[in-house]
Amino acid sequence: MKPKLRSIWVFHLNTGSCNGCDIEIIDVLTPFYDVERFGIKLVGSPRHAHALLVSGPLTRQAYYGAKETIKAMPPQPRVIVAIGTCTCSGGIFYDGYPIYRRPESGRKGLEYPRKGGINELLADLREEGEPIGPVIYIPGCPPRPEEIIYGIAQLVGLVEKRLSYQEYSDDIVKFRLPEGPIEERIRLTLRERLRHLVGYLDRERILEDFMKLVEQAEKSENPRGELARLVKEYAAKCGDVRLAFCMALLESEYWRVRDALDAGKEFVYWI
Ligand code: SF4
Repeated sequence: MKPKLRSIWVFHLNTGSCNGCDIEIIDVLTPFYDVERFGIKLVGSPRHAHALLVSGPLTRQAYYGAKETIKAMPPQPRVIVAIGTCTCSGGIFYDGYPIYRRPESGRKGLEYPRKGGINELLADLREEGEPIGPVIYIPGCPPRPEEIIYGIAQLVGLVEKRLSYQEYSDDIVKFRLPEGPIEERIRLTLRERLRHLVGYLDRERILEDFMKLVEQAEKSENPRGELARLVKEYAAKCGDVRLAFCMALLESEYWRVRDALDAGKEFVYWI
């Protein structure tokens, strides 16, 4: 990219970041790193901004706000600076439930991941005919202030780019739901239901125990009766009423989801 800008007014936008990247963005704007010495100035409205500093994996909640923000910017130069791995590619939120999913033709269902990242929104905007200027990617979780400054220095033409661009493709990373003896949708809804009772920390261990009982019961001729027997046996053995309650709840929830799935009915997932 040829250097054209010598003074850039930037607007900071969070599209679902964990706040880690935002702290680093604030950091480069403070007098210690003083990015204003390169002519970068933070403004309070996208209408005055040449560039958008974006952080976060682009959640569904943030999608429309982000879209309006970019549309509100002047059409030229409309530079987008994607700060943090989440903004570049979805990061740790890749295919997470709250992430925006782009409705591309011919691809639907769970096999189609919620990729995340600002590119999803930029692709929509380009399709709508909105002009988008250069996009600078500054990965890192979060990127260090020096890395952000290095990215901005590229933007203003103070340094040359050293890495080459590589396009993400599903052919490189094939996405598939993990295969298991119990359907993954059932496991996930039970896992989430359990979180409401015992929190994040204990749910994996309890669910693992329950899944072992389910696997055992599914091998018998009467899985429903066998699972009820195994759950009772488990409760008697552990002697902890809280665990017994969790197991009983998982048992009823398992049959609720399983029966609904078998009958092809609509039902509520706990996710
Ligand atoms: S890249 Fe890391 S620090 Fe930045 S928003 Fe994502 S998880 Fe948070």
